[in-house]
Amino acid sequence: MTQCTALLWFRQDLRLKDNPALIHAVQNDYKILPVYILDTEHAGAYAPGGAKSWWLYKSLQCLNKNLDGNLVFRSGKADEIIPELLEQSGARAVFWNRCYEPWRIARDKALKSALEKNHNIDVQTFNASLLWEPWEIKNNQGEPYKVFTPFFRKGCVQHSEPEKPEPAPAPISYADFSPRHDEGALNLLPSIQWYRKFEKYWEPGEDGAQKRLDEFLDNGLKGYKNKRNRPDLDNVSRLSPHLHLGEISPRDVWHAAQAKGRQAHWDGDMDTFLSELGWREFSYSQLYYNPDLMTKPLQEKFKTFPWRHSEKDLSAWQNGQTGIPIVDAGMRQLWETGWMHNRVRMIVASLLIKNMMIHWVEGENWFWDCLVDADLASNSASWQWVAGCGADAAPYFRIFNPVLQGKKFDPKGEYVRKFVPELTALPEKYIHAPWEAKKDDLEQAGIELGKTYPKPIVDLKTSRERALEAFKTL
Ligand code: FAD
Repeated sequence: MTQCTALLWFRQDLRLKDNPALIHAVQNDYKILPVYILDTEHAGAYAPGGAKSWWLYKSLQCLNKNLDGNLVFRSGKADEIIPELLEQSGARAVFWNRCYEPWRIARDKALKSALEKNHNIDVQTFNASLLWEPWEIKNNQGEPYKVFTPFFRKGCVQHSEPEKPEPAPAPISYADFSPRHDEGALNLLPSIQWYRKFEKYWEPGEDGAQKRLDEFLDNGLKGYKNKRNRPDLDNVSRLSPHLHLGEISPRDVWHAAQAKGRQAHWDGDMDTFLSELGWREFSYSQLYYNPDLMTKPLQEKFKTFPWRHSEKDLSAWQNGQTGIPIVDAGMRQLWETGWMHNRVRMIVASLLIKNMMIHWVEGENWFWDCLVDADLASNSASWQWVAGCGADAAPYFRIFNPVLQGKKFDPKGEYVRKFVPELTALPEKYIHAPWEAKKDDLEQAGIELGKTYPKPIVDLKTSRERALEAFKTL
């Protein structure tokens, strides 16, 4: 019997292992035509930013290698390209794994229904990205949860154990097709080659993701519960960009961490790590039920907040020139590596939103462009969380003091010294507040505030009071 061809549309699932759409196609004996479409037209403002574009380019290279060079590359409107490819290849089926960004949901729903109705194509979709899909997790009233702990403990964990990951299917038989093009045709690499340094820090793709997981389980999971807040240590997984593009399955990460934690009796560390995966699920649930999460505060009263506009201050924050060391270290880590430690993400966001009173969307947009893990759900939900206007958010009046945060989570100032080298010689006592150092100490460290390193952009005490006053007006 001749084999039928199925289009396998890769999106946020750039892997072979535990990829349900791919497994379905192979198990049902299809010849596969794997395709990736860069659809910036439908994505609009949410097309990949600079840092993620570099990652995507590399990740697609790896996927294509693992698919023995059979991946077809296209850019343009997916709802036009898919029917064209079906016609050109003679395929009668399309399989994909579901995505949850509002623009993708709208496009995919319309495409699925058009293919089924107008072209009589078999369209099957699967879950590759989440442990629990948003519509599965609802409270007793049938509403989405608004608070994390019941969402995760009651909603998710009690709902069902995440399924065990499936191995990569083999052998895969591919459909003959041309032209396939390659990742270069997508024009993903930004013209400014600032991404070149990322290659020192990351290995995008399925193989790199597996190595990162193994490395974390061997060296990071032990102690994760207490040390995950320390940007000067190496106790977090750095799996976020791999998870974002689906180079590794969350089911894989969940079960591997659980097995390691149980076997090594690191139950507290394991539980904390699994609940962080739960925050990812919570973010997706928020985005699914609030498709304006990127721009609209979940708490209505924040719509009238009197935000400040200052290009100069925003630019100082973006460039790591606020004069507040832990903030500058974070913003420079982001620029240098395309990633920032979670604790520091919260500190830099708090300074921007509260002390500087600049709209959280400005910070969200900057992160979108600079993060290799820029993820519509996690980025939007987290900015709303810090701003105090999101679900289960830190209250607006709880304003991080970046000096105390620095002293607590970077006690020796090693993180600051790494990313703000002009402060290297400053004694530990002043590393998080150079403006408190004596003239002699500054001189000996070769620092002139306002010249070699900025004076703080805001006075932390008065800016805090200003933010609280503004909050009272809501
Ligand atoms: P680990 O501590 O090893 O956690 C494991 C995984 O759990 C992460 O890879 C991630 O997928 C998930 N996770 C952990 N913490 C969170 C969280 N608070 N919210 C959602 N998922 C979480 N994360 C993104 O993936 N993309 C973003 O665009 C993003 N933007 C953020 C913006 C702000 C202002 C803040 C405060 C947080 C943001 N986060 C974002 C969440 C978090 O900072 C990162 O997921 C985490 O730092 C990634 O590092 P890791 O993989 O080492 O995390």
